[in-house]
Amino acid sequence: EPAPNDLSSFWMPFTANQAFKKDPRMLVAAEGVHYKSQDGRDILDGTAGLWCVNAGHKNPRISEAIKAQVDELDYAPTFQFGHPKAFELANRVAGLFPDGLDHVFFTNSGSESVDTALKIALAYHRGRGQGSRTRLIGRERGYHGTGFGGISVGGIVKNRMYFGSLLSGVDHLRHTHDPERNSFTRGCPVYGGELAEDLERLVGLHDASTIAAVIVEPMAGSTGVLLPPLGYLRRLREICDRHGILLIFDEVITAFGRLGTASASKYFDVKPDIITCAKGITNGVIPMGAVVVTNNIYESFMDHADAPIEFFHGYTYSGHPIAAAAGLATLDVYREDGLFERAADLAPYFEDTVHALKGRRHIRDIRNLGLVGALELEPRPGAPGARGFETMVKAYQKGVMVRVTGDILAFSPPLIIERGQIDQMFETVAACLDDVE
Ligand code: PMP
Repeated sequence: EPAPNDLSSFWMPFTANQAFKKDPRMLVAAEGVHYKSQDGRDILDGTAGLWCVNAGHKNPRISEAIKAQVDELDYAPTFQFGHPKAFELANRVAGLFPDGLDHVFFTNSGSESVDTALKIALAYHRGRGQGSRTRLIGRERGYHGTGFGGISVGGIVKNRMYFGSLLSGVDHLRHTHDPERNSFTRGCPVYGGELAEDLERLVGLHDASTIAAVIVEPMAGSTGVLLPPLGYLRRLREICDRHGILLIFDEVITAFGRLGTASASKYFDVKPDIITCAKGITNGVIPMGAVVVTNNIYESFMDHADAPIEFFHGYTYSGHPIAAAAGLATLDVYREDGLFERAADLAPYFEDTVHALKGRRHIRDIRNLGLVGALELEPRPGAPGARGFETMVKAYQKGVMVRVTGDILAFSPPLIIERGQIDQMFETVAACLDDVE
């Protein structure tokens, strides 16, 4: 019998394995904006889990809805059969996204949503007699999950380099991030919409008739909170329109209130053809994702008896009843408690508080948007990432959970956080930076 604290069998995601097992940060319970650590301490959840627990932990209305669903209908397929809550949730989700994006395909994660969206884009062109449009364009430093599609369009070279050619003909826009130029701004950088013209470079290189879609995160989260320059997304939209290229927004992080709006598309007032989401759709409580498409795309797949678009796709758990129940309850909580508005109202305070850290030790750049913040640290010479990692560990010891990617610390608390807790979160981390070499 292995001892209960034996961590040897579990293979952790990504590269944190050995470091974590030597110094485990084990979470055993949660409530509201706090976790409880195994050693009995309250840990302020500065990251809403992994950018997902937007309504806070263990919201009773969500928990009750899940329990009731388990007792009513535990599983039902949505292939050739269905159940009412999946349809109801599709309508509710569509209602939150921009007009004209009214159709929803359910998945179980962000990665599945991305792969689904890419397949929809390719199938859409093929169905319109444009089967040569097979090329997908991502962006450097983009993160789109870990499916083969997602890593191919993703902009993290080390995530994709070991897996051969992957999808053929993928290319990447240059990323727009420049801490030297961003550092004096708050919210969106006010320059650089013209950086979207990089898409014209790729169109020139590859020919528009080979390009199916461009996928970007409206705000890149996992790779360090990289904000789009003002006007960037709108210019991308215009260039895509000019060349018949579909535009996909990966809103796995930004959908469901993170920016104080239902979606980043609404925040930036730019309408993509396809939106991917996950995380906040069920408050992170049950795995679920969704792909939301324009009516034009949806209709082109439907009712073409003469030339149906072949699209064999779907998952055993698409629209799972328990996830659907969790999703409906989550959307109720967002609406009844006004959480998107609350995030919008708190955003200026959050911005002032994170920017008040300017000049504190090791900080090279400060970024924020909605209830997302980032501190980019000066890397320790010869040991990139060490300072970031040590700060995250120290903050946890002092009762605050932050997320670290290299030397970038990211903050994305539940939308129910109070002002005093925002102060605590940033002050604790700044104090840790004073203690870190
Ligand atoms: N896309 C984006 C923008 C994400 O942030 C993430 C996860 N952080 C994913 C896709 C992948 O989602 P999942 O981990 O649920 O597969």
